Amino acid sequence: MTPSEVLLGLCYVLASALFVLCLRGLAGPETARRGLLLGQLGMLIAVVGTLLHREILRYDWILAGLVVGSGIGVAISARIPMTKMPERIAMSHAFGGLASALVGVAEFHRQMDVGHLSRFEMGALGFEVFLGFLTFTASWVAYAKLRGLVTGAPITYRGQNLVNLLLAAAAVAALALLVASPGHPYVFYGLCAIGLIVGVTGVLPIGGADMPVVISLNNSYAGLAACATGFALGSQILIVSGALDGASGFLLSILMSKAMNRSFANILFGAFGTDVAPAHAQAVARAYNEATIEDAGAVLRASQTVIVIPGYGMAVSQAQHAVRDLAASLERRGVDVKYAIHPVAGRMPGHMNVLLAEANVAYDRLFELDDINDDFARTDAVIVVGANDVVNPAAKKDATSPIYGMPVFNVEQSRSVIVLKRSMNAGFSGVENDLFFQPNTMMVLGDAKKTLLGMIAELRA
Ligand code: NAP
Repeated sequence: MTPSEVLLGLCYVLASALFVLCLRGLAGPETARRGLLLGQLGMLIAVVGTLLHREILRYDWILAGLVVGSGIGVAISARIPMTKMPERIAMSHAFGGLASALVGVAEFHRQMDVGHLSRFEMGALGFEVFLGFLTFTASWVAYAKLRGLVTGAPITYRGQNLVNLLLAAAAVAALALLVASPGHPYVFYGLCAIGLIVGVTGVLPIGGADMPVVISLNNSYAGLAACATGFALGSQILIVSGALDGASGFLLSILMSKAMNRSFANILFGAFGTDVAPAHAQAVARAYNEATIEDAGAVLRASQTVIVIPGYGMAVSQAQHAVRDLAASLERRGVDVKYAIHPVAGRMPGHMNVLLAEANVAYDRLFELDDINDDFARTDAVIVVGANDVVNPAAKKDATSPIYGMPVFNVEQSRSVIVLKRSMNAGFSGVENDLFFQPNTMMVLGDAKKTLLGMIAELRA
């Protein structure tokens, strides 16, 4: 072994260890920043180590790639705000998938030129290009749905599942043929094309609000594509980092679907989550307590304990700073204020944590579902800020409801509930919410941020 090979090996071991520590750090809000830094350091060491590889003869193309890649990265982070993180992640997965796929195509031709393409290498390259191209198009479709460039409603047509099944069968057949007899550029490019098509046809039937699950699954595919690249190129660091990436994306998808009490099959093939709120027509016909900002202020003035439940509407209205200011006003009056954070509130894991952290709400004020659910019965007032499904008692009581079984907050047990939303429309699941019609619930209708600012002024007055 030459000294540069030893150095390269050491870099890779160190980078792998840093990636593991990064994932460990990302498991909690207090350690997440440190975890990210360790991950970035690991990536830097892996890249610098790779640049020392003795088989690299010239650096001009690498430098051009670095400039273009950094330019795209800076543009993405400058143009897409943190609150639109799923869109950012979808874009970065699209580029990651494309990079793996293009490396696969280049390696295929290189191996063909030198005349030795083993079955194992062919299999790894086949996986790499199929998953890489699939991730590329699937991520762009997910991005377009989140951005509203295509409808967020599931796009379905007759025989869709059959078409997808046939495409999957064609991909397996092409891969088997390539492994049995490596080479065949037409079959290889056919497999690439199927990957591109499956990315589109697989994501179109999935509702816009399920895109976070799709994105974390794409994360998993991109990781597996990178892992396959590692096998094809004989690169240990790609195998390790791709496997970590693939496994973490898959675990996150499982956690998300568990928190929604939905199966993978329901998410991927169930066409769940439409833009239309079917509950609306019935909801307007039922009686509810519409309240004013003054009414809400009066309830808060009489409260000693308050729990805030943020949901997707807080993100839409960008009300996190107003939420923090209202909590500060209440705390100055001696009120104990806590935040209840549901694992799938909003549209991505940690969505509420990110927004509240941006508004400098202290981590120790945030409580997860199991840690706070028993407190509602002894709470004076709950403020529901643009949340709906995560406070819907139907998830506990109505076995016929699509959200039955999803763990939800026991909001209805508190003395008063103040709901801030714009209308009586349903949330993501389209299910009517009985909480809004209970005698102890006050509906303060309007944009959450405006209502919160009004409530702060009311408390000051
Ligand atoms: P939700 O059920 O989608 O309800 C959000 C509510 O916010 C809506 O009812 C809407 O009512 C209100 N809203 C929207 N804009 C508003 C504004 N400017 N001001 C005030 N209110 C506003 O949200 P959620 O309770 O957070 O539940 C999340 C849902 O997303 C769950 O069903 C979950 O399963 C799903 N999901 C989450 C994830 C994740 O990782 N977090 C992933 C996939 C799916 P109006 O229109 O009447 O204002």
